[in-house]
Amino acid sequence: MASSDLSRRELLQAGVAALAGSGLLLREASAQVRRRASQVKSIIFMVSDGMSLGVPSMAEPFSQMVRGRSTNWFRLLQDPEAVTGLFETRSLDSLVTDSSAASSAWGSGSRVFNGALNVLPDGTNLTPLAHVMRRAGRKIGLVTTTTITHATPAGFAVAHPRRDDEHIIAELYLDVVDVLMGGGRRFFDPQQRSDRRDLIAEYQRKGYVFWERREQVRGRERPEKVLGLFYSGHVPYTIDHRNDPKLWETVPTLAEMTRTALEILSRSRHGFLLQIEGGRVDHAAHANDAAALLWDQLAFDDAIAVAVDFVRRHPDTLLVITSDHGNSNPGLNGMGEEYRDSAKCLERVAQAKGSYGAIQQLLRDAGTPTANKVREAVREVTGIEITPEEAEVIASVAQGKPAPALNRAHANLTGVLGEILSNYNGIAWIGTQHTGDWTLVTALGAGKEMFAGIRPHKEAFYQMLNLVGISFRNPEMTPEQAKRYLARAPRVQKVHWV
Ligand SMILES: [Zn+2]
Repeated sequence: MASSDLSRRELLQAGVAALAGSGLLLREASAQVRRRASQVKSIIFMVSDGMSLGVPSMAEPFSQMVRGRSTNWFRLLQDPEAVTGLFETRSLDSLVTDSSAASSAWGSGSRVFNGALNVLPDGTNLTPLAHVMRRAGRKIGLVTTTTITHATPAGFAVAHPRRDDEHIIAELYLDVVDVLMGGGRRFFDPQQRSDRRDLIAEYQRKGYVFWERREQVRGRERPEKVLGLFYSGHVPYTIDHRNDPKLWETVPTLAEMTRTALEILSRSRHGFLLQIEGGRVDHAAHANDAAALLWDQLAFDDAIAVAVDFVRRHPDTLLVITSDHGNSNPGLNGMGEEYRDSAKCLERVAQAKGSYGAIQQLLRDAGTPTANKVREAVREVTGIEITPEEAEVIASVAQGKPAPALNRAHANLTGVLGEILSNYNGIAWIGTQHTGDWTLVTALGAGKEMFAGIRPHKEAFYQMLNLVGISFRNPEMTPEQAKRYLARAPRVQKVHWV
């Protein structure tokens, strides 16, 4: 139903009831709702996590190569109807953000410390976007290829000081988020939670239908509330998913989850907020794994097609497509004479049959990783024949010896593997961590103009609220004010930065 089908009175009632709950002055709230309610009914916010600008640049020729067509994002960037901009993304304690601080900035309008979810360093809980939108009658959806309790989805719906507490974040979505789809079953399953709490049953008692197989996403049932958990941890990389028939049968694609989430949420009378994350682009960048990166970016691109199609049919919807930060800044080098080998290099990426995880699995299965076993495993997974000397370096790092890297950001197994394979696939990396780059933003549909040009990422929160007609402000802290809390800030587990 288009927003014009709703009477002004209905909109006012929904908005005012909602805002009364959030403690705002009724008079102010009704004025805001009346002035702006007709512009945007629903918001789709898409994040390719950790996507440096080199990623869509490489995904375009890669898509031509493996799919014989352009990426949907590239086509959208050329569409005069779409608006292009950039986000500046620093966090409260660093020039380089992590995913929780970035998602919190979109999710509350405030910069927080890396590792925090919508909590200021002095312990002030901010009100996340999902809570504000929910009070204004919107349904809420989170769809991701990471654990559903991971930093980016959580940043829209949760205020909690530590992103690592995924078992707690799993509890906080109940009755806040209507549609949850992604990985992370282990944070809900009583067998895998240390407190043995059966969160799946608790969600079911509150009216959520539990899904755990691809066919349920592709089927006809469209319940009002869904808890869809399709993997114990993160959903496997697309390249592994595509090449494993068992995974293909049980795990849905990001585009399928997106389509189903939109089918469910679009029945909401007062609109919805849906965040869709291609979460493993970030992981592949941390791993310097070109094939895993590009295939996951294409899976994200398939989800873009679903969202764009929806917005074309529902012009009262705003679509924002972006990333939270750069990561390892991969780029295709000019290779060979006159750079004519670069295309051949990209073709080598297309031959890969698995992620670096598959190489590491083969090495684990083989026992002590000798140079020969390394050569075989690399050949089997990537189709690339590395030299015995290169295999020797990888084997020694895999055995726990120090990595010989001049740039210490590369001094680990994946860094060394990435450097050596870049001799063949032409894709080089500046490190294995997030970067401070500006990120690409493309907006389509109602209110898109707000996203033109370069802006601090935290402004997106107020832009979205303005567009749906809600007046609300969260408290903020400057980096100067935050300094004295640095020593007491919680540490983030290393494992979650990857
Ligand atoms: Zn990351």
